[in-house]
Amino acid sequence: LDVQEDIASPKKTNDLLKKHHLVLKKSLGQNFLVDPNILQKIVGAADLDATKGVLEIGPGIGALTQQLSKAAGKVIAIEIDQRLLPLLKETLAPYPHATVVHGDILKVELQALFQEHFSEYAQVSVVANLPYYITTPIIMKLLEEKLPLEYIVVMIQKEVASRMSASPGGKEYGSLSIAVQYYCEPEVVTIVPRTVFIPQPNVDSAVMRLKVRSKPAVEVEDEAFFFDVVQASFVQRRKTIFNNLAVRYFTKETKGQLEGILQEAGIEPARRGETLSMEEYARLSRCLALALGNLTDSPTG
Ligand code: SAM
Repeated sequence: LDVQEDIASPKKTNDLLKKHHLVLKKSLGQNFLVDPNILQKIVGAADLDATKGVLEIGPGIGALTQQLSKAAGKVIAIEIDQRLLPLLKETLAPYPHATVVHGDILKVELQALFQEHFSEYAQVSVVANLPYYITTPIIMKLLEEKLPLEYIVVMIQKEVASRMSASPGGKEYGSLSIAVQYYCEPEVVTIVPRTVFIPQPNVDSAVMRLKVRSKPAVEVEDEAFFFDVVQASFVQRRKTIFNNLAVRYFTKETKGQLEGILQEAGIEPARRGETLSMEEYARLSRCLALALGNLTDSPTG
């Protein structure tokens, strides 16, 4: 077994795991890609060249890392499972510009990591076959830290990809759609059957490309409050926007004001949260903040 070759095949992956006496951990989302065509689609979507850097989350045994290393100038791969480190050392031996960092992506100081590793790289993307049990926290961490990213190209559960790219009006549209689309332009690159992984997960997947916007899709004065309003509006999906907001921000005595606030924002109180566009949420959060004295620059704030 020549581990320095491309390892993306069922046989090579199984042989490598056997050689290292490794039993994969379901709890860490360890489903390894064994299809070279899918790997090429992922790498292709990231539009890499030797001047660009890549942050990979969860290299596993290095199948994707090998291909990223051929396409990019530098690859930093963060892996939580210490047992995989000796194996990665073998599979990545021919790629000196790939570095594995042992750690938990949710705990790593990403700003510091970027300064340390990517300061000479004008463009950096995240490219990963994500551990599905923490897809949303990972994406939210990457976006909220406002890292200077070009793309986030990730393999995720198909249903999560639909939610991230959903438009207003459907049942897939929710606070995740708005958070992702506030920061990025999402695009589903390809749908991926469960058969290309070892072991097979019990869901289908999709490769999703998020092009990170140079500035957010809408202007809001207070981002935290904007996202709070969005979140509040979806707490009970079947309830009207009026009812959800009344529960969150008003009392029995004060909720009479809410109708006027909604009207001012141009939103029918009987609508449901899932019908509001991001622009409408931006307007709504502004009117609400003013009314609640929540804006720092308002006379009451
Ligand atoms: N990149 C490999 C591939 O495509 O075959 C493996 C992908 S596998 C779906 C997810 C990887 O993420 C596993 O190697 C797992 O150990 C790792 N992982 C899970 N939780 C993690 C965390 N919190 N931080 C970093 N890596 C994590």
